Amino acid sequence: MREGVSVKEFGVIKEIKKFVIKIEGLSNCMVGQLVNFTDDTKGFVIGFNEKEVLVLLLGSGGKIKANDIVYSEWQTFTIPVGDNFLRRIVNSLCQPLDGKSPVKEEAFYNIFRDAPSVLDRVPIDEMLQTGIRIIDSSIPIGKGQRELIIGDRMTGKTSIAVDTILNQKDKDVICIYCCIGRDYASFEKVVGVLAENGALDYTIVVSSLASSSIGEQYLAPYTAATLGEYFMYSGRDVFVVFDDLTKHAWAYREISLLLERPPGREAYPGDIFYLHAQLMERAGRLSPELRSGSMTFFPIADTLQGDIAGFIPTNLISMTDGQVYLNSTLFGEGFKPAIDLGLSVSRIGNKVQSEAMRELTKDVGLNYIQHRELLKATKLRAAVSEELNLRLRHGEKIEQLLKQDRFSPSPIAEQLILFYALKKGALDAIPDAKCEDFKKGIYAFAQENFPDLVKSLEEGKTMTADDRKRLNECIVQFFKE
Ligand code: ATP
Ligand code: MG
Repeated sequence: MREGVSVKEFGVIKEIKKFVIKIEGLSNCMVGQLVNFTDDTKGFVIGFNEKEVLVLLLGSGGKIKANDIVYSEWQTFTIPVGDNFLRRIVNSLCQPLDGKSPVKEEAFYNIFRDAPSVLDRVPIDEMLQTGIRIIDSSIPIGKGQRELIIGDRMTGKTSIAVDTILNQKDKDVICIYCCIGRDYASFEKVVGVLAENGALDYTIVVSSLASSSIGEQYLAPYTAATLGEYFMYSGRDVFVVFDDLTKHAWAYREISLLLERPPGREAYPGDIFYLHAQLMERAGRLSPELRSGSMTFFPIADTLQGDIAGFIPTNLISMTDGQVYLNSTLFGEGFKPAIDLGLSVSRIGNKVQSEAMRELTKDVGLNYIQHRELLKATKLRAAVSEELNLRLRHGEKIEQLLKQDRFSPSPIAEQLILFYALKKGALDAIPDAKCEDFKKGIYAFAQENFPDLVKSLEEGKTMTADDRKRLNECIVQFFKE
């Protein structure tokens, strides 16, 4: 229990409008402050009328009725944070949902804490390895960056976020998966995958399902960001996934309509932009005086029929440092992860990619886009020139390397070997099946026969002449065997 709670003042419930409660009294309260109902439910002040205080209910509040007494606490809205939340599933108030023991907190943080100021930040200078080849090669992400994952329903958005969490194993990055307004089945699937792969050891799950109260759905992303801030300010690297902010915007729209605030574009209240921008600002990399922690955000957003010009998608695109755009046509063609390289960008990551990786992959994305154009143009022609044929074959091999199954993150050394072979043209002439064997087997082969090379690739930022020599040997030997 929180110590030193001082009851500040009382109020009386005048009206209950679904999850918005109108209260008379509480004349000194502030927006964002917690209030307690007699049945132990909590709520927080979300606005005012001339005579009443408007409170958003956090919880079902089934027993609350008019004329009940409400009291407010002295503190602003804080939630418990700390190391012990790792491996746990909590709700928006940081109460455990996994049926295990209560969590001992290390501190209480303001849930609407201000983002670090410009002076507290330093430029992003380290890469967050996602283990997804197409992202690490063509849309690299920096630690402290905000990268929007956007696409239609069922295009693999959650899979990208989950794969990235799985890849942080033994990399000393704290992960937070925040589920907002999703159904229990998809939530359970994600938690199942994390547990199976031993990823829960370094992960906190914040859950506000579609069946949770609207208030909890509204708060969940702030809770996740606040839990992350605790680690960021203790000098750790944090990675947070918001799955997804479209549902968060829906929750806020519902609240705003009940508060009788005027709806704007697509019936969303205008200040949804401010709300999301304020949240996104909390990511970043801190200066050495603040112990150099970082927080990376992967907000997820839905589009309808590929329309990225919708209100929420355009808002989010404008307030993040790039987007990974998932295309349902590519998904249908079997190109998974279905990332559309033409519409995806990373405005920061390119600067922090290692020199070796940059050198090997700088034209992979462009070549692949050109390959798809070429494919369209040559579809109707029976015979193509030998030169064109070569280019098509190279494009096919790029496609083959960029395809990747879910839950099988690719270590950076493996990516370097694969892209090296691609760049040297070692794959162009071999049949697809053999290329598939190479993609699946080369890393294990290199680990066994060239352990020094793998170690050097993992550690080195640049590729030495010695590395190249051994890489050539390794690839030649693999095909010999
Ligand atoms: P939703 O809109 O429901 O949240 P989503 O966009 O998050 O969906 P996912 O749940 O990640 O999509 O994936 C949808 C389906 O796509 C999965 O069930 C999985 O079978 C398939 N899928 C996603 N990524 C891959 C991949 N890399 N390889 C193979 N299949 C994949
Ligand atoms: Mg999803």
